[in-house]
Amino acid sequence: MNTREHERLSYLDLAKRKARVTRRLSGSELPRFSKLVDSGGIAEVELAFAFDDAGHAQVTGYAEIETGLVCRRCSESLTRTIRVRLSVCLVADEELATTLGVDREVLITDGSGVTVAEIVEDDLILGLPERLCENDPCELTPGFSYPPHGGERDTDEDREANPFSVLKQFKQNRDF
Ligand SMILES: [Zn+2]
Repeated sequence: MNTREHERLSYLDLAKRKARVTRRLSGSELPRFSKLVDSGGIAEVELAFAFDDAGHAQVTGYAEIETGLVCRRCSESLTRTIRVRLSVCLVADEELATTLGVDREVLITDGSGVTVAEIVEDDLILGLPERLCENDPCELTPGFSYPPHGGERDTDEDREANPFSVLKQFKQNRDF
C-alpha cells in the first residue's frame, strides 16, 4: 500500500508542513543498490522534511533493508540488515549544491519533486558492509560498520574498501 513507484514528492511543500513520509521501496526502485547485492528485500524508509536555518529544504530519517550478499573471495553467503541514517539537503541550484556540499550531503533536484529512492539510494549503497565475512584467510574480515557521515574516511584502508570500488569492480566484471 505504501509502495508507489516513481512517485515524486513535492519536497518544498512537505518541508513547509514539516511532513513525515513513510515508504516501502522494492528492489526495482533501487536499481543501483540492487545490482550490488545478491538479493534484496523491501527497504523501509522514514523521512522527515523541514527547512534548515538558512531556508534550505532538509530531509532527515532512516532507511533499512535486509539484504543477501555473497563474499566474492570465498563465496560465503551472508544476510545483513543495512540501516542508514539520512540527512540530505535538497536544492535545485547546482552552484548552491556545490557550496553546501562542502560539509553536508546534498541532492540536486529539478526544483519541484524528488523520489524517495533518489533520497535514499546513495546512502544505502554507502551503507553496504565494507568487509564482508569472517572466514580466515579471507581478507574481508570482521566488522560491519555504518559509514560515518561527514566523518573521516580518507585512510588508504577506507579507500580500498570503499563500496564504489566494489561498484567499479562489478562493472568491470560485467563488461565481458
Ligand atoms: Zn570471504
